[in-house]
Amino acid sequence: MTRIAVVGTGYVGLVTGVGLAAQGHDVVCVEKDVTILRVLETGQAPIYEPNLEALLQQVREKGCFRVQRDLRDAILQSEVTIVCVGTPDGPDGVNLSALREAAGEIGKALREKAEYSVVAVKSTVPPTTTESVILPDLEESSGRRAGEFGLCVNPEFLREGQALADFLQPDRIVIGEWDRRSGDGLEGVYRPFGAPIIRTNLATAEMIKYASNALLANLISFSNELANLCAIVPDLDVAQVLGTVGQDQRLNPRLRGQPVNPEILSYLAAGCGFGGSCLSKDLRALIAWARHRAYNPALLSAILDINARQPMQILTFLEGALPSLQGKRIAVLGLAFKPGTDDLRESPALVIIPKLLEQGAHVVVYDPVAMPKAQQTALRGVLVEYARSAQDALREADAAVVVTGWPEFANISPQDFRRELRTPILIDGRRLYEPVLYARELRYFAIGVKLGHPT
Ligand code: NAD
Repeated sequence: MTRIAVVGTGYVGLVTGVGLAAQGHDVVCVEKDVTILRVLETGQAPIYEPNLEALLQQVREKGCFRVQRDLRDAILQSEVTIVCVGTPDGPDGVNLSALREAAGEIGKALREKAEYSVVAVKSTVPPTTTESVILPDLEESSGRRAGEFGLCVNPEFLREGQALADFLQPDRIVIGEWDRRSGDGLEGVYRPFGAPIIRTNLATAEMIKYASNALLANLISFSNELANLCAIVPDLDVAQVLGTVGQDQRLNPRLRGQPVNPEILSYLAAGCGFGGSCLSKDLRALIAWARHRAYNPALLSAILDINARQPMQILTFLEGALPSLQGKRIAVLGLAFKPGTDDLRESPALVIIPKLLEQGAHVVVYDPVAMPKAQQTALRGVLVEYARSAQDALREADAAVVVTGWPEFANISPQDFRRELRTPILIDGRRLYEPVLYARELRYFAIGVKLGHPT
């Protein structure tokens, strides 16, 4: 059992804190946002992640998980501090102010601490940031030299929507270490997970995180570029093309003759673009980092360009299907950037909805979990109607647009759409439906296929 302080309880910090407590560590989470703190103090999770709230309540009841505002006290109690504060976009790529502020406060507490302890940066930062920025901040505020305290980079690979499962069953743990003693301290925390532990220097660990996200984003934009190529000619369906590419045994090995269908293949699929707090932000940061070092990362820039254009496909379909959007009731199914989460950051829905409103449409939205967050944050003050169910959203709409691939939307039959919609127009931004089947009942438009014989 290690005494651990987790600084910042956003998506990453809260999952990390709860997950480490569930593995038998003694965890104190520090949060400076009083609204989040108050919610956590009642035992509720301020974010939606499957099973998170139940496990949070269990570890609180066991007495191995606490939350507080006081960072100094948390550091003084702990052997390891894991920093999970946000690193949003900034003028030079990444805004490090929250991280630097946290490092300053951690350093001040280390000054008072006799016991050796390790600081691990879990926040995503560009290569060399920890050594060139965070290390000097810690040394200055603590009055100690690195080595007297430990320093690691510990990137996080969890996927929102399955964050807890990913954290509890990681495929690899990456520990970038300032020195051997730092890495040993952090390795002790992760040994109970039983996953391969890869130890590197600080900059390599930082780059591994960016490389992982760049690869995933690359697969999505590659799929979307192919989707747009397929849609140039009739009856050439990208889903069949990529589905068959994905049967290559180098991508999809067989086990006892059966394909194992690895999760990576879900990124080889077309849609209206990726969103979320990480992929675009991290690509922008890596591009800025490279340009600052006189390298033009053309491929990384193209990934972002393709992604920025992709939600516009939805509008192109709508403009083709309806002579004008003025006064038209458009049902938007899905607000979250992907199913399983209430996170709206950089969601394609937030690109599509303002464009619909600009053109005079009346927008009615439905999302199974993200509507409260949308009302409070991203769509605050935006004039959209919130429906109680997908069926309510569809009722009397002039067109339906599927933006998030929630499984419950996949169960809406062509007859259901036809019954509820005023005009039977369906835009499938996530390739949830079988084109030929749906096109029999509806004017069906989907990313990556142009049907030759629409009904
Ligand atoms: P977030 O913005 O949701 O949460 C950060 C939290 O830290 C906020 O609640 C904020 O109030 C708190 N905070 C900031 N400064 C603090 C301080 N000095 N003391 C206490 N609390 C403080 O961010 P997130 O999505 O959890 O991401 C955190 C980091 O992890 C980022 O660098 C991100 O790039 C990276 N990351 C995110 C994901 C993801 O899926 N969200 C996955 C992997 C890595």
